[in-house]
Amino acid sequence: MDRPRLIIIIPCYNEEEVLPVTAPRFKAELEVLRSKGLVSGDSRIMFIDDGSSDSTWKIIKDLSDESPDYTGLRLSRNRGHQNALLAGLLEARKDCDITISIDCDGQDDITAMEQMVEEYHKGADIVYGVRSKRKTDKAFKRSSAQFYYKLLSAMGAEVVYNHADYRLASSVVLNELADFEEVNLYLRGMFPLIGFTSAEVPYERHERLAGKTRYPLSKMISLGLNGITSLSVKPIRIITGLGLGVALVSFVLLIYTLVRYFIGATVEGWASTAAIISFMSGVQLICLGVIGEYIGKIYMETKRRPRYIVRERTDKE
Ligand code: UDP
Ligand code: MG
Repeated sequence: MDRPRLIIIIPCYNEEEVLPVTAPRFKAELEVLRSKGLVSGDSRIMFIDDGSSDSTWKIIKDLSDESPDYTGLRLSRNRGHQNALLAGLLEARKDCDITISIDCDGQDDITAMEQMVEEYHKGADIVYGVRSKRKTDKAFKRSSAQFYYKLLSAMGAEVVYNHADYRLASSVVLNELADFEEVNLYLRGMFPLIGFTSAEVPYERHERLAGKTRYPLSKMISLGLNGITSLSVKPIRIITGLGLGVALVSFVLLIYTLVRYFIGATVEGWASTAAIISFMSGVQLICLGVIGEYIGKIYMETKRRPRYIVRERTDKE
């Protein structure tokens, strides 16, 4: 079989501390893949600078001067991990057979790439990296992540359990991904929708090698909500169900009140009335919020703004 040309896609945002540590590791792994004849000699590593404000882009440029193995793409501003990843994937698909996307902080086991490429040779077009253990994640992150996967599947969204964005995708798949035009991105939920043959490769997740997480709780929650609302309209259905349920209860309550009225026993405390009103206002506000989430999304989608803008490249081929 022909050896495929691989481009490793690595989004970086303010990673000046960790990039000099991990870049040589990616290069070493690329060498291993080459020497085993799994990928072609002109395979590459592509860093996507997601509008960093530190020296990340300078490091990327220096790396690309040092070795042709490294290339870089610089976005015009910070757009977030998902957009940076999409930029890398869509730009790379034109000059490669396969891509592997991975974070730049060394948390994901780099050596799992070998097995991923082997799965590709066996016929898979998408290979999902799946975390075998989460012992290095903080207890909170671990349990919230597990809870989230359960929630997603309860909402009818199809995602691969314990898979983040460490994944091999062939250019065939990426050409199809390019036709998914949504601006609200949740890539790990989009790949299963593309289809083709897929496989899973387990790997261990380590501590960050340097620097600190660029995914604070607020970004995690926002990605999480985006996942649910991108993949499913079930929350709106739940609201409809809730509304029907509440209407039924109110109807029973109405009959009860009428009966009390006719037997002349209506002088009762306001406490229960006040409680019902405030409870119902709360429920209504939550429902409005959920519907608002979807309307907000539709609003953003109708604008059809570009999902990323390339500012600079380290092209030299
Ligand atoms: N990242 C990015 N843009 C952002 C935030 C993060 O490109 O706005 C990159 C970051 O450099 C890293 C990856 O996304 O390569 C994952 O981020 P991080 O390691 O901070 O997240 P965590 O692993 O803690 O969830
Ligand atoms: Mg990380």
